[in-house]
Amino acid sequence: MSLLLIALNAADAQAGAGFAQSFGSEFDVLVLTKGDVPAIGARQVFSVDQADLAPADAMATMVQGQLGNYTTIAAVSAMWSKDLLARVAGLVDAPMVTDVIAIPAPGQYLRPIVAGSLLATVEVDGAPVFLTIRPAGFAKPEERANGSTSSLGAPSNGVTVRTNKSASQGGRPDLTQAKVVVSGGRPLGDAATFERLIGGLADKLGGAAGATRAAVDSGIASNELQVGQTGKIVAPDLYIAAGISGSTQHMAGMKDSKIIVAINTDGDAAIFQIADYGLVMDLFEALPAIQSALD
Ligand SMILES: Cc1cc2nc3c(=O)[nH]c(=O)nc-3n(C[C@H](O)[C@H](O)[C@H](O)COP(=O)(O)OP(=O)(O)OC[C@H]3O[C@@H](n4cnc5c(N)ncnc54)[C@H](O)[C@@H]3O)c2cc1C
Repeated sequence: MSLLLIALNAADAQAGAGFAQSFGSEFDVLVLTKGDVPAIGARQVFSVDQADLAPADAMATMVQGQLGNYTTIAAVSAMWSKDLLARVAGLVDAPMVTDVIAIPAPGQYLRPIVAGSLLATVEVDGAPVFLTIRPAGFAKPEERANGSTSSLGAPSNGVTVRTNKSASQGGRPDLTQAKVVVSGGRPLGDAATFERLIGGLADKLGGAAGATRAAVDSGIASNELQVGQTGKIVAPDLYIAAGISGSTQHMAGMKDSKIIVAINTDGDAAIFQIADYGLVMDLFEALPAIQSALD
């Protein structure tokens, strides 16, 4: 039994380290972009010499060349990892399980289904097994020295060429890595108000901004901010949900957050069922008041 943890960058390696340390064997880590790698106890660190992740088809061919004899290839659940690992699994005709939250026994994988309302235990045939994992299900990693480090050259071009790249989060931390996420729903009304109230509080707390699908579909927030079943899965230390009803699909993306604060005018809103702290209040009063208190 041996594990290769694939990480986008240093923060992603840190996010996957708890899973890797609990895996029950030594593990190596393949970091797909250059930068310092945190001390997570990897036997070998392979680091790809590229500033940005190349398109997934080029990366898949490169990762295929690194599979060696590993029995498990894992990465933290994210759009990029599901895209990349599914391609590599396809290339080597191997099984893949996404969004794993626990390994109850060797070869068994626990994962949420039906937007998180049920848990399924999955067994697969074939090797290696490709996994994407949700870090919140695993213990926090200990700081441990890594073994040897090797640098790998950037991959050759694939058939996909990236022609443009834009960042729209204004320097905020990545939504899936942030320790604090402030999310807003449909009542925010327009993009400027969302940015002032949700983005403003996120900045004061050093966090990321998130949104519901209703907010995204209404043009209030950009697509990459969507949290939920068809958006990003987050598990920050603090999740503030303002004007969010708490649909099953939204909660599927944030219910593993450590502390959930809900602000909603409707005391019966479903979000209060999973909230640690609930404020039955108009968000247009509550959010400016919280921002002022933090000044
Ligand atoms: C297949 C599928 C996939 C989906 N995937 C996702 C997903 O990934 N993520 C996601 O978020 N949704 C997803 N949805 C949509 C989801 O079902 C809900 O429609 C959506 O989450 C509702 O967003 P909302 O809470 O912003 O809006 P609403 O349902 O309109 O709720 C707004 C809430 O704000 C409260 N409110 C109103 N005014 C104020 C105020 N002034 N101050 C405070 N509170 C106020 C209301 O009481 C209400 O609870 C999906 C749906 C489907 C069918």
